[in-house]
Order: sequence, then C-alpha cells, then structure tokens
Amino acid sequence: MTDEDCLFCKIVDGVIPADVVHETEHVLAFRDIGPQAPTHVLVIPKEHLASLDDATDGHRALLGEIMLVGRDVARAEGVSETGFRAVVNTGADGGQTVHHFHLHVLGGRAMGWPPG
Ligand code: AMP
Ligand code: ZN
Repeated sequence: MTDEDCLFCKIVDGVIPADVVHETEHVLAFRDIGPQAPTHVLVIPKEHLASLDDATDGHRALLGEIMLVGRDVARAEGVSETGFRAVVNTGADGGQTVHHFHLHVLGGRAMGWPPG
C-alpha cells in the first residue's frame, strides 16, 4: 500500500532514486540525502505508515524488523562497536518533516544529548 503523494513511497516504488544499503520483503534502508553524521541511513517500512503515532498493534512485527534492520545497518557500516544513534522523529515537535515512518541510524561521530 503506497501513498502517491508521499516522497518515501516514491523511493519504495523506484520513482525517485535512493542509495539503498539494505532491503527485505517489508523494509528498505537507504542513505539520507542530507547526512548529519558520517553514517546516516533511514530505515523505512515499504508500506505507507505516516508516523509512529499512526502505528497500531498490527505493526508490532514490522516495527521490530525495522529496529533489527537498523542494528544490521549499523554493523554493516562499521559503527556498532563505537556506538550509534537510532531516532524516530514524530510529529511537529518531534521534528518530523517526511510523513512516512523512518528510523534514522546515525554513527561515525559522538552524538550530543539532549537533542536541540
Ligand atoms: P525527519 O525530519 O525525521 O522527517 O527526516 C526526514 C529525512 O529525510 C531528513 O533527514 C532528510 O534529509 C531526508 N530526506 C529527504 N528527502 C530525501 C531523499 N530524497 N532521499 C533520502 N533522504 C531524504
Ligand atoms: Zn509513504
């Protein structure tokens, strides 16, 4: 199920190109176009899910898979031993700008806390 007005659905459909680093039946991982760290990969469900706030109990397995793909991406990028940040921005105050659920996987430098 895709949303024709959604940027990340267009990446899933191949209408907009992306630098894909990992793909499963249900999940796609690709490099962020504006990287905020040496490694910055987005892990998304192939089906359109607008945000974490739109997730239901039926998304339990899918969200679990996204987290584990994030783990695998961090390992493949060589940042799991030094550490990494996995972030889901949600809604306006969360700083979400693309309304298709995505897990940011950031690594390769030390992260600050708290977020600005
Ligand atoms: P967020 O602000 O959490 O919604 O994150 C959206 C992310 O999508 C930002 O980090 C953008 O740099 C990234 N982004 C926007 N357009 C593209 C694109 N065409 N390919 C890859 N990443 C993108
Ligand atoms: Zn979408």
